[in-house]
Amino acid sequence: MSPTTALAPAVPEPSPADLARVGEIQRALLRLDWATDAVRAVLEQALERSYGLGVHTLEDAARRAGSRAEVLQTVLGALLVARLEDGRPLLDVFAAADAGLSPDEAAMVRGWSEVVEAPFRVGRVEGRAWELENLLDGLTYRVWMGVAQDEAPPAHLMARLVPLGPDWVCIGHAVPHPAGARARLLVVAARLAILRPALLLRNPAYLDQARRCQRVHHELFVEFFGGDEVVLAHGEFTRRLQEFIALQASRAVEGRAAAQHALGVPLRVLARARSVGLVSTAEAGVTFLPNYAAFLAGFGAEASAAEQALVLQYLRTPALDLLPFDRAAGRDAAAVSRTLARLLERPDLDWARDRDALRREFKRVGAVRPSVYVLPPLLQAHVDGIPERNAPCPCGSGRKYKACCGR
Ligand SMILES: [Zn+2]
Repeated sequence: MSPTTALAPAVPEPSPADLARVGEIQRALLRLDWATDAVRAVLEQALERSYGLGVHTLEDAARRAGSRAEVLQTVLGALLVARLEDGRPLLDVFAAADAGLSPDEAAMVRGWSEVVEAPFRVGRVEGRAWELENLLDGLTYRVWMGVAQDEAPPAHLMARLVPLGPDWVCIGHAVPHPAGARARLLVVAARLAILRPALLLRNPAYLDQARRCQRVHHELFVEFFGGDEVVLAHGEFTRRLQEFIALQASRAVEGRAAAQHALGVPLRVLARARSVGLVSTAEAGVTFLPNYAAFLAGFGAEASAAEQALVLQYLRTPALDLLPFDRAAGRDAAAVSRTLARLLERPDLDWARDRDALRREFKRVGAVRPSVYVLPPLLQAHVDGIPERNAPCPCGSGRKYKACCGR
């Protein structure tokens, strides 16, 4: 699934029937007859965010946007990346629903959560195989289009790509842009990168840079809080977090923290919690854990029913990795084994032996990735708009912007 630079196919190319099937599945996804109430609630929130307060239905949104097709693109975007409150991707709900998918197709649909959304420069086009250069992550992708191109291809495309075997396929509407749109599309890319930093981290060079920054952020955390883990009481959390953010700013640490986005716990939920645990690692940065003190108490001999229920809730939240359990086991592994054995009614459960199996059973998290990211200079220069035409090009070529990336 790595982006490719050569057009020569290493594997047989997908047949027109394969590509048509991708289109059918996409239409089934958008039909929404599989959507549970929980899925619909998430989509309503997405519509409200995009089209304004009080907009809850496709019809409302289409009236507000003046285009039903545009609204369907918004819905598709949410279906690809949004999750239920427990962290389960909406795509998982669709893949598990009775939508007539084969097991292979269901696996493919789950993989669509890796969607690459960006403006692209169109490179070589050979029949249905297009070479697209991503203006956001700088990588080149080989993309199979549903139909062969008759006319000259556009200079740029705003598109969503999802994995298809080792290559990619375009999903939803790809919007063409002329050559002169490059500067404007770089602004779009910069804003998209801030909203969804994971899109940048597909590039191994940016991932390495983010990893280096993450270690610096982690060391600063340890310096400020006096350790890699801290439990803050209600009322203390917001103030201490602000102090920490101010310290980061005063040291001009490279990289933006995206931890809150990564975990998906809204700040207002944390501010309401009785306690908040902050656990920092050099690999993934800060994880915020609401009611962490009560969670830890859940492993004690005197644990209340509410504290034990919280332990189960932490376990059954797919988006939250086992980090808090690892920390609890670091304090008393036998207590973690005992508590989980009782709560899950598995008398033989042993934390050290069963940890990985529990992770597979309860968690849906990918590889551990940094939660800080750094915008490449070219995108940083486009965050607030198009740079001045006669200024040196922010890509560092030494030429004027208008004669280089702003062309
Ligand atoms: Zn340039």
